[in-house]
Amino acid sequence: SSGTAALRVALAALGIGYGDEVITQSFTFVATVEAIIEAGATPVCVDIDTTLNMDPKSLTKAITSNTKGVIVVHMLGTPARLVEISQICRNHNIFLIEDTAWGCGGSLLGKPLGTWGDVGTYSFDFAKTMTTGEGGMVVFQSEEVFKKGKAWHDHGHENNPDVQRCEDSKIGRAHV
Ligand SMILES: *Cc1c(COP(=O)(O)O)cnc(C)c1O
Repeated sequence: SSGTAALRVALAALGIGYGDEVITQSFTFVATVEAIIEAGATPVCVDIDTTLNMDPKSLTKAITSNTKGVIVVHMLGTPARLVEISQICRNHNIFLIEDTAWGCGGSLLGKPLGTWGDVGTYSFDFAKTMTTGEGGMVVFQSEEVFKKGKAWHDHGHENNPDVQRCEDSKIGRAHV
């Protein structure tokens, strides 16, 4: 339903919540930080560099034993330093989420923005690169994390056509 909801789903699907720290960058839209707070985690904002996005050195310095994830942002459509940042996340065994609200359709080294990390989120708000009026999207690397995200955003519904979800006495059984 929105880029903010997409971030919230991403954090939930990765199991990020109370007691966890999530590192993001000081130059972003407030929704990035709001989603971290709503997940019950602690936002940690680090410096940006000449890309206007996360400075990999500043990121490395901010990692603690409580760091569970990083949300990198591609502000103004400019790709963040994904080669360095994704390597740092792998080295420290922490999740990488790409907030691609400004970067939909962009790429780095031929790889679309939003597909470098564990999860990529997009906003289709009216002020963004591509819009549906209001809307968002989440893309996942892993099938397992996708299933968790899908269940989390849809109240745990199974969406199995063999399992009845609702019933209307006038029209009979409705399968969703
Ligand atoms: C707009 C934006 C969001 C939130 O998207 P909404 O669809 O407005 O909820 C998140 N992060 C960034 C960087 C944004 O610019």
